[in-house]
Amino acid sequence: MKNVAILGFGCAGYHCAMTLRGEGYKGDIHVFSDTELPPYNPMLTTYYAGHRLPWKGLFPFGTLKGIASSLRLTLHTNSAVERLDCKERMVRLANGEAFPFDTALISTGARVFVPPIPGLPKNNVYVMRTPNDAQALRDRLDRGDVKRAVVVGASMVGIKVAELFQRAGCACVLADLAPSLFPLAAVPEVGEELGRRVEAKGVELKFGVGLSGIRETGDGLEVSFGEEKLPADAVVLAIGTRPNLDFLDENGPAVDRGVLVNKRMETSIPGVFAAGDCSSGYDIQSGRHQIIGLWANAGYQGVTAAGAMLGQSVSYPGTLLHNITHFMDMDFIGFGDVKAQGEIIRYRNEGFFLYAIRREGKLALVNIVDNHIISGVIKSFMSRKFLGSCEPISPMQRVILLRNGLNEDIIRLLESTELEGGLIHG
Ligand SMILES: Cc1cc2nc3c(=O)[nH]c(=O)nc-3n(C[C@H](O)[C@H](O)[C@H](O)COP(=O)(O)OP(=O)(O)OC[C@H]3O[C@@H](n4cnc5c(N)ncnc54)[C@H](O)[C@@H]3O)c2cc1C
Repeated sequence: MKNVAILGFGCAGYHCAMTLRGEGYKGDIHVFSDTELPPYNPMLTTYYAGHRLPWKGLFPFGTLKGIASSLRLTLHTNSAVERLDCKERMVRLANGEAFPFDTALISTGARVFVPPIPGLPKNNVYVMRTPNDAQALRDRLDRGDVKRAVVVGASMVGIKVAELFQRAGCACVLADLAPSLFPLAAVPEVGEELGRRVEAKGVELKFGVGLSGIRETGDGLEVSFGEEKLPADAVVLAIGTRPNLDFLDENGPAVDRGVLVNKRMETSIPGVFAAGDCSSGYDIQSGRHQIIGLWANAGYQGVTAAGAMLGQSVSYPGTLLHNITHFMDMDFIGFGDVKAQGEIIRYRNEGFFLYAIRREGKLALVNIVDNHIISGVIKSFMSRKFLGSCEPISPMQRVILLRNGLNEDIIRLLESTELEGGLIHG
C-alpha cells in the first residue's frame, strides 16, 4: 500500500488517518474534504448555537493545519469528491482534477434529510449538522426576533433544538408523525412521561402530525401539518439523515442504505473501505447490517479500517444501538430494540425510572430516565450478552449499580437468563 485516499474528514476519516500514522504507515495519505474546516463533532453543534461552547470547541482534534502537519497529510480542502472511480482507481473532483489511489476509505458521513417540499422557503428554515448550520441558527437566535418556532422531528436532535428555543424564551412547537417523544429509542410509556416533562418546561408537543408544507407569509412562515397550520418565525427540520454517497456509481461498492462493510470495514471492492455514518455496519443485537449513526462507532470503524488496510487481524463486531441525551435538566438513555416484545421490568427509585424488556433471557431494550451513571454498566452488560458472553455483571460494576439506586433484586432480574412469564415490577 503506497497511497491512501480518505474521502470525507469527520470522526471516521480522522481516526483512520491517525491510526495509519500511529501504526507506522509511511506512504501518502490524501484527504479529500468538501469543507475547509477541521474534522468537527456534529453532536456539539447545538451547544455552540446556544453559546454553551466556543467555536473552537466544535473541533476536538485541533486545527486542520496542526492535524495535517502531525499526521503528514496531503489535504484537498473545498474539494467535494464527485466520483469515486473504482474501475480506474481514481478520485475525481468537480473541477476535473483526478487523483489515483490504491486504497481508499469512504467516510463522507451523512447530511440532514430535507423532504421534497414544493417551494420550500430559503430563509428562516434551518437544519443542524455542520458548524455552519450551528452558526446560522445561533446568528438567528442572537437577532432576538424569533417569537414562535416550529421544530419538526421529535428525535435527539429535535429535542436539543427545541431546548435552544425554550432557553431563548421563544414559544416552540415540537412536532412529529410518531405518537410520542424519541420514537426510535423510547417505548411509548417512557416517551409519554418525558413528553409531559417537556411540556411542563413550556414546549408544546404535537404528535401524529406529518409535515405537508412550509410557505412564506407576509410576516414569517406558515407550517402545514395537513389541515393544521402553524405560524412560525423559524422552522428547524430534524427529520433524519441520509448518507453522502452521490459520488458512487454502478462500478462502486455494494450499498444498502449505506456502503455495506464487513467487520474489517472492507466493502465489496478490494482495497476500498468504508466507515462512519455513510457505512452499513452491524447492529450486534439483530446481527443485521445497519447504519449506526453514532460518534464512537464512527471512530472505532475508522480505526478498524486503518488496521485492515495495514493487513492487521482487526475486527469490529458492531455496536448496540444506543442514545444518551441530556436536555432541559433531564437525561434519557435508550439501549437496544425499541420494538422488542417480551417481559416488562419497571423500576423507580430516587427520582429515576428504568424500563426494560427481556426477551429470550436477554435484555432486549432498556430505557432509563434521569440516571446516566448506571447506563455504562448496563450497556456493557447488554453488549456482552449479544456478543455471546455468559458473564454476569462484575462485582465492581455491581457496586456502581448499588450505589446509584438499584438493589440486589432488580440487578438479579436484569441479569437473569431465566424465562419468567409476564413479569411486571415497580
Ligand atoms: C445534532 C447532532 C447530535 C448528535 N448527537 C450524538 C450523540 O449524542 N451521540 C453520538 O454518538 N452521536 C451523535 N450524533 C451523531 C454523530 O455526530 C455522527 O455519528 C458522527 O459525527 C459521524 O461521523 P462521520 O465521520 O461518519 O461523519 P461526519 O461527521 O458527517 O463527517 C463526514 C465529512 O465528510 C464530508 N463530505 C461529505 N460528502 C463529501 C464529498 N463528496 N467529498 C468530500 N467530503 C465530503 C462532510 O462534509 C463531513 O465533513 C449527533 C449528530 C448530530 C447532527
